[in-house]
Amino acid sequence: MTSAIIPQPGILDIALYQGGKAKIDGVTDVVKLSSNENPFGASPLAIEAAKAASATFHRYPSTDHASLRHAIGEVHGLDPARVICGVGSDEIITFLCQAYAGPGDEVLHTEHGFLMYAISAKASGATPVVAPEIERTADVDALLAACTDRTKLVFIANPNNPTGTMIGGNELARLADGLPPQAILVIDGAYAEYVDGYDGGARLADTRDNVVMTRTFSKLYGLGGLRIGWGYGPAAIIDVLNRVRGPFNLSTLQLDAAEAAVRDQAYAETCRAENARLRDKLAHDLAALGVPSDTSQANFVLARFASEQEAIACDELLQSRGVLVRRVGSYGLPHCLRITVGDAASCDRVVAGVAAFQDAKS
Ligand code: PMP
Repeated sequence: MTSAIIPQPGILDIALYQGGKAKIDGVTDVVKLSSNENPFGASPLAIEAAKAASATFHRYPSTDHASLRHAIGEVHGLDPARVICGVGSDEIITFLCQAYAGPGDEVLHTEHGFLMYAISAKASGATPVVAPEIERTADVDALLAACTDRTKLVFIANPNNPTGTMIGGNELARLADGLPPQAILVIDGAYAEYVDGYDGGARLADTRDNVVMTRTFSKLYGLGGLRIGWGYGPAAIIDVLNRVRGPFNLSTLQLDAAEAAVRDQAYAETCRAENARLRDKLAHDLAALGVPSDTSQANFVLARFASEQEAIACDELLQSRGVLVRRVGSYGLPHCLRITVGDAASCDRVVAGVAAFQDAKS
């Protein structure tokens, strides 16, 4: 390549995103607990809908996603006109940065926030800014203090990945109402479905003109492989995001499967209840082995070790037993391992592996 061919400023500062490992060399019986996926899979109705979609593969898909937006609106009690659908919630994050943050602008996020916020900010030429947390939990005062007249977007995942912690509705409202006038609060609800009685920030996005909520079909709905997410916010902001959205960003397969999934709330409820039961048991069993975690509201626990060396050694032992979890050094938590809540047998394998690790130490 000639030296005259160079990308936009900021692009080469982006560290490549490393997804959760899916394989271990030489090991066949692997449990993958590294990407916060639903261990029970997608709703059978969503799988049926995906298969049926093949009948219209020769046709272009819907450009306005009306059918999926109406289903989401009905299930969540939201205005379908203010829903936007994307290739995972990643794409909604990208649209927000493309449309609202450019060179000279700041994109604020929490200390242990999802890596895509900084990636998308840099890809748009904007500068990511980090606000400290308290005990791995978002701190509204620190976020407000970090705002400047260049802050355009403020991202908070609630519950947060990889910490599993969250803040309450009043704190979210205080954050929205305290932002400078040019800033949008983005409440990332990728794990919102796992929290009993939480609307993911929907009411705030419904009532404030500076709040957008993002959601995904990759977690509770078990459709990570299909890549479907959505956002909800003020009509004026959704209009702007639709202008940068490609006309055929979602395929018929994605749209039909997502609609069937969101309409199958009975299946979603089963997965939610099973996750809560297994998550609390996993956290309890790990604590009993001397490995604490913060109370998680999501489908993973963040296991804390005494040091980075210990976390790495435990990860290596787990891998030798076919258990894949996630190292989170890139999130500033090198002494922790993020462990997705799998099915009961997978959780038992994690606990047995950690027990063997602790035994070997003593
Ligand atoms: N936000 C958070 C907090 C996440 O953890 C993830 C997935 N790891 C996403 C957004 C993106 O999810 P998707 O693009 O699959 O919808």
